[in-house]
Amino acid sequence: MGLYLRGIIASILVVVGLAGCVSEPMPEVIYDYHAPAPAPTPPAVTITPSPAPTTVQPSNAVPRYWLPSRPDRAWTAIIIHHSGTREGNAAIFDKWHREENGWEGVGYDFVIGNGTDSGDGEVEPTYRWRGQLTGAHCGGTPGNWANEEGIGICLVGDFNRTLPTPKQRASLVQLVRFLQQRYRIPKSRIYGHGTTPGAHITDCPGRRFPMAWFKASLPN
Ligand SMILES: [Zn+2]
Repeated sequence: MGLYLRGIIASILVVVGLAGCVSEPMPEVIYDYHAPAPAPTPPAVTITPSPAPTTVQPSNAVPRYWLPSRPDRAWTAIIIHHSGTREGNAAIFDKWHREENGWEGVGYDFVIGNGTDSGDGEVEPTYRWRGQLTGAHCGGTPGNWANEEGIGICLVGDFNRTLPTPKQRASLVQLVRFLQQRYRIPKSRIYGHGTTPGAHITDCPGRRFPMAWFKASLPN
């Protein structure tokens, strides 16, 4: 019996020893910025479809690919857009902006998908964000300050007809909170496209965009 037990213990030690040698993949997250680590269980991040203030959990970490790959610009504002289309993603808007507007590429810094051509709530940083380049999302501003200083976020969808999906809203709040914290941007400097000082008249990001809920979800 003693030998048998020792055999089991030895086996356990071997297994534990082997497990300790297995390299863990690096987590795709960065530093803490608000709350304790999110619970790994899905129910903790369930978002209700109600437009009322929801249980969006301010995540304490953001994916590494959200970070710019160049030194940060001195961003002072965040400007929210909708695509005005039912479908799309960063690559599709990139093609449109090149072919129809003659731009170098997609005008936004980030695109948040609605489950059509990218994941529902998927955040796609664009080449403008990675390179910290001037945007092309807010025409008509004097000196184009909003393109120079404003981070342009586009949610896929036509919010004159529909609402952002719950996952889009959750991602938007997580992204904006992260950007607010990183660049010290107050809530008063977060605009819908149409209410951006100096912008051309537009109903972007859509008459049904839940601006009151959105602002209530952000810190000052
Ligand atoms: Zn817009």
